[in-house]
This record gives sequence, structure tokens and C-alpha cells, in this order.
Amino acid sequence: MIEGFFKRMSVFLFVLCGLASFLSGAEAIDNILADKLIPLPKKAVFNGGEWFKLSDSAQVGVKTFLNLSEEDKSRIGDIFESYWDAEPGIEFSTCEDMKDADEEAYKVSVSEKALEISAKSHAGVLHALKTLRQLAEPMRGTLKTEAYIIPQCAIEDSPSMKFRGMHITIMPETKSFEVEKKVRLAAYYKFNYVVLEFWGCYPSKVRPEFNFENPDLSRSDIKRIAGVAKELGVCLIPQMTVFGHASGSMFRSGKHSALDLNPEFAPLFEPTGWTWCLSNPHAKEAIKDMALEMWELFGKPEYFHIGCDEAYDFATCSECAKADKKELLKNHIMYFRDLFAKAGVKVMMWHDMLLEKEDPRWKGMTASAKPEQGLKDLYKELPKDIVVCCWEYAYLPKDENAPVFPTGKFFADAGFNTLMCSWTSAKNTDLMGKFVSGNSLYGMMGTMWYNDFGEPFQKIYMQTAAAAWGGKPPRLEEGQKSFLRRLNFDRHLRQVSIDMGMDKMEQSGRTENQSVPRFLY
Ligand SMILES: [Zn+2]
Repeated sequence: MIEGFFKRMSVFLFVLCGLASFLSGAEAIDNILADKLIPLPKKAVFNGGEWFKLSDSAQVGVKTFLNLSEEDKSRIGDIFESYWDAEPGIEFSTCEDMKDADEEAYKVSVSEKALEISAKSHAGVLHALKTLRQLAEPMRGTLKTEAYIIPQCAIEDSPSMKFRGMHITIMPETKSFEVEKKVRLAAYYKFNYVVLEFWGCYPSKVRPEFNFENPDLSRSDIKRIAGVAKELGVCLIPQMTVFGHASGSMFRSGKHSALDLNPEFAPLFEPTGWTWCLSNPHAKEAIKDMALEMWELFGKPEYFHIGCDEAYDFATCSECAKADKKELLKNHIMYFRDLFAKAGVKVMMWHDMLLEKEDPRWKGMTASAKPEQGLKDLYKELPKDIVVCCWEYAYLPKDENAPVFPTGKFFADAGFNTLMCSWTSAKNTDLMGKFVSGNSLYGMMGTMWYNDFGEPFQKIYMQTAAAAWGGKPPRLEEGQKSFLRRLNFDRHLRQVSIDMGMDKMEQSGRTENQSVPRFLY
């Protein structure tokens, strides 16, 4: 009797354990596939069964609400060839079901025999193809890749904000290959804007005396990268700091891209050299020459970033000290705003010099103006077409379900197009994305600064892409659980590097060398 009971219990437990391992096995496969996708789409269901083989005889359908041009169709065919070395017969048609969808939304449906993409427009189709590229793997069991296979799935996604940006810093030692690689990866992760900020190394022809030389980044390289970005659906935005950070270098390095080698230009800067001297008309003239030259080199994009952060020594020279600081800064910002507005271009600026550090409303947040500078009401006198870039890297709102970033809310409520900017913190980036999409702010921008290699490079790209598209965050803080996702990031970086014709070890991966970062901090 007792023996029989134990026997029955054993069978029951065996079945239970088998069922549990079956469920966790299926879930594990789904997680393996989901980890391939960066950003993770809002819906991704994997159906099991035989994988779809992407060969020349494969059946592929592309349905869009808006008609595709012949050029768009041919581009889609080229992408199949370049991603998967396949030329399937693609059947293009129009559909009504994406009529009310977001301009960039897409759906993917893959069965054993057919692959179908639905989108509102060409942009959505391109996003779908990026998702499929991440999901595909080479057919198993051969020495070399003969074809690609894709798991059966149903995927749906749409961005949570219109402006999805990445801010990339370029140092005198940054190589052109690295810049292009980061721009291409931004496009692969479905960002649509990239800001390039040169730290004292913009190769100016009109004012070469203000920049260190970058031996590996020429004017023609920049022009070419701007063209590549445009082709990939990314607008490349130039940045020239017109206020603080005039040294053209990191605060940490102590270098000055103008004064170290050309000290005769000292009157153009405040005595420490960190901020431009706003009362000197020659400073304005020099900045204008470089800014316009840069904007033209970038292909005259719709935005120009004028910096304006962390002007620690603002108005410390004998002339600026006598001036009305608010008027001085207002006239300076308006000069550049008007210069670009004439060409239909919007200027972007960092927010922190418009808020006072001592103001209790900004406790725990970023504000750099001093009360004696009288800048706290300057924002009221600035036109609302200025895009305010609100960088809040450490703030964590208390209400995680309806997060609010007070500095960002302040500028949005004042009527400015407000971009929230994140850095390395996973939690901060995730909550910021929720704040931006939940309150219909202008958008979001990840920033790299000196964290532009190694693990921080991974984190910033993965976290910001997830926040901008509104899918599940990548959980990069979860130690070993995030290894597979991080390895997939490296695979994606390899794919874009191969697209570029990588042929040197230094061009591969997240760092130039295997073990030594090129910039220690
Ligand atoms: Zn001055």
C-alpha cells in the first residue's frame, strides 16, 4: 500500500518535473531569441516549428499603407542581398490595416513557408528589416554560410517618441572608422538623430587655429559619414559650443585646443579659457565662421546644437563683469538662434545655465547658473523654437509608474521643445523614457562623453534604444543574465563593422585594443 503510494507519487512528480522543464525550456528558447533583439519590440512572440529559410526562392511579402516608390522597392531588394545574400521574389502591395499606425510602425509575420512585413511607410519596412537581421542566423551544419534562417514569429513595434537621438563625442584621438561605426550602430538600433560634438578637433578650414589636429578625421571623412547617416535614415547634427566648454576639451584633461598652441587668442576667452568672452565681438565672429562651416559640411541639417552648458567662469573678465549678465547671454544665444533661423534651422542647447543651482526646485538635479548672474528668468525671453536638451543623469523619480523629471517638465511647460538626455544609469534611462513618452515630450537623447568604449558604450546604446522605443528595458544590471544580450550587442557591432569593410583588429569590437582602453579616467 505504502509502496504503491510512493510509486504513484514518483510518476506524478516525474510528469510534473517533465512539464516544468518543458515550460522552462520553451521559455528559455524565447529568451534566447528575444535577447537577439535590441531594442526589444513591444510584441515579440515566437511560435516554434521549422525555421523559415531565406533563399532566392523564398516567399516574401511587403505590404504598406503608403505606396512605395520604385527606388524604395529597389532599395529593399538591395537590403535582402546585403544582409542575407539572397534575392527572393518580393511581392509589394498596399494594405489598409496600417492606416492609423505610427509613420514608423511595422509588423513582421514569419511562418515556415512565408515572411511578411506590414508597415505604414518605407521607414517602417526598414525597421522591420533591421529586426529580422538581428533575428536571423546562418543555416546550421555547413562549413561556411550558405543561407540564413529565421524563427517563426509575430512581431509588432512602433517608436514611443519622434526624436530618438545619440550624442557622440569626438576627441583628437578618435578615428573616423569609430565615428562611422557608432553612427551605423545608432541607425541599426533605430535612432533617427546623431549629434557629433568635437572636443577641440573639428578640422576647420576657415579657423584652423582653434582646433587640435585629428590625424584620422578629415573634412571629407565627416562629409562622407553625414552621407552614410542620411542613407541609413539618420540625421547627423553638428555641435559647436558657443558658450562654456570653449577650451574644446574635457574638463578632466586640462587641455585647451586654442590657447595651448596659439596663446595670442586669449582675449576671445574668459581669463581661465573655459568660457568664450561674450563681450568680445571677435569671439562671436570666430564661432560663427566655424559653426556655419560645420553646418555646411554636415549637409545643412535641420538642427544645429550650440552647447551652452557648464559655463563655470562666465563673465569673470574685467569687461563681462561690468555687463548685465542676462542681457549678455541673451544677445549671444539670440545671435546664433537668428543666424540659423534664417536658414530654417532650429538650434538646440543644453539646459543647465538657464537654472540656478541653489533653487530648491532643482534639488538633486542639474542646474549650473549662479544667483549673482541673474539668469533664472532668461528662459522667458528666449523663443520657443529653441530645443532645450535637459541632461539629468542621476535623478530617479519617486513614482516609477508616472515618473516626472522636474527640470524637463519645467521647460516643456514653458513651451519649449524639450529633449531629455540620459547617460549610463539603466534605471534613470528607463524612467526618463517613460516620462518622455507619457508626457509627449519632444524626445530623448543618450549621451556618451568619455564613456564611449567598452561596457558603458554597450549600456548607453542598449538602454537608450529601449527607452526610445518603449519596449522592455535590457536589464543590464542583472549580472550574468545580461551576458547573452551583451554578446548580441557585440554581434551587431560586428555586423556594422563588416558592412564598413573592417580589415584590422583595431577596428573591431568595443575597444581599440584587447585590454587597454584608449582613455583612462
Ligand atoms: Zn569677457
